[in-house]
Amino acid sequence: MRTIDEITRPLEYLSPMDRHLGKIIRRWADEQVIPLRQRYDEDWEEHRLIEPAFKALMVDLGLQRLLFPEDLGGMGFGHSSYLGTGGFRIFEEVARADSAMAVAVGVTFWPLIMVCNEPHVNRRLCEELAPRFCDTDRPVFAANAMTEPQGGADIENLDLLGGSTIQTSATLDGDQWVVNGHKLWPTNSGGVADLFGVVCSTNPGSSDPKDFAFIFVPADTEGVTQGGAYQKAGMAADKNSDVWFDNVRVPVWYRAHGPGDDFTYFKEVVTFGLMGSLAFTSGVLLNTYELLQEATSRLFFRGRPLKENDDIAGRLSGFAATVETVRILGFQYARMIDRRDLYGAPWSDDMVAKGRAYKMLACDMAVKSLGQAMDLLGAHGSDRVADVEKHWRDFKIVQLWMGGKQLCQMEVARHFFECESL
Ligand SMILES: Cc1cc2nc3c(=O)[nH]c(=O)nc-3n(C[C@H](O)[C@H](O)[C@H](O)COP(=O)(O)OP(=O)(O)OC[C@H]3O[C@@H](n4cnc5c(N)ncnc54)[C@H](O)[C@@H]3O)c2cc1C
Repeated sequence: MRTIDEITRPLEYLSPMDRHLGKIIRRWADEQVIPLRQRYDEDWEEHRLIEPAFKALMVDLGLQRLLFPEDLGGMGFGHSSYLGTGGFRIFEEVARADSAMAVAVGVTFWPLIMVCNEPHVNRRLCEELAPRFCDTDRPVFAANAMTEPQGGADIENLDLLGGSTIQTSATLDGDQWVVNGHKLWPTNSGGVADLFGVVCSTNPGSSDPKDFAFIFVPADTEGVTQGGAYQKAGMAADKNSDVWFDNVRVPVWYRAHGPGDDFTYFKEVVTFGLMGSLAFTSGVLLNTYELLQEATSRLFFRGRPLKENDDIAGRLSGFAATVETVRILGFQYARMIDRRDLYGAPWSDDMVAKGRAYKMLACDMAVKSLGQAMDLLGAHGSDRVADVEKHWRDFKIVQLWMGGKQLCQMEVARHFFECESL
């Protein structure tokens, strides 16, 4: 039978580390996550089972050092011309084991993109933040605090609303920012994150891009309070909670860049969020393909393996087409990020809108295909031992975040059809 490595990756432009990265993360997944993941749901609050696997990935394999420059102890991916395709490979292999772990890892890089990526490196902040991630033997996570109680989609709808709905305020007081506000849902909240990147406004209500501010706040700063983790439909390895910032003071230079540039480069954060979502989609589909190969050969219907029945084979062919298409599409978007000389800057409105289009399509295809995988396995699909139901539950959440499907639809329609009122 075909292996998942025969599902196409664009061989002509893979990262030079592709094979190596894939191999070491797959070994980690097969040894440390897949044998335990059926018990992760019960571990959603304590993360006792989950934490050792995170330590192996973030510290022992060094992923938490990924973006920082080499001279600060990092792996230097922030200036790699394979950041997109290399990142895609890492995220897809982690998501093959557990998509929630992939988002927890991916979101750790999310705020750091603002200051570690060429050409907008903020060297002073890299020097300040690198020791937290690079000089430690415990796993360290970051969070990107964007969504607020009045709505997450409007905050991400940068093109139309320009940050005008952001209620978290940043006020300058001498040489410090004073941050006040309430955020919901950041991945790695609920007590996990050591560092927050906080989306704020220096003039709440304003849609002037210069008033959009991205400010780093260490989680142990006075005035930061994280609530308890929410219990979700799945994705237990990702903790999400309320976070309050109450007169939180940080040095003025903890702002990522400054008026205008924070807004511009935050769109790159959105682009990477979309690329990551595509990689998670690919990883979930790859593993479900493996699970379906095994189950449809082992289970019998009318004396024949499931896969030898016409209707089942029809659905399996649809699944194979989806995994082939999503993987190649996701790698292509990652490559577009790497080749800004050909496709423009990753913070361009064009790259954001195209990423939204790809994420929307890939999530629709995957949600449908995972539903069909459940259908064709019948009651066996609902068996937690089969693992398909885990991906089915976990994956639906990928479709819901980053403004949900509706924001994708609006931004894509606006970009390609110049709709003016959306
Ligand atoms: C597992 C998980 C991880 C997450 N991680 C993070 C994170 O790291 N950082 C972070 O800040 N947030 C995070 N979120 C929050 C997530 O990004 C938001 O839930 C999402 O952006 C939608 O925002 P909302 O829930 O506030 O819904 P709302 O913005 O209130 O929207 C509600 C619904 O209305 C739709 N909608 C909104 N506007 C329109 C419109 N004009 N027309 C039609 N429909 C519309 C939306 O698509 C959505 O379906 C995470 C969520 C989950 C589930």
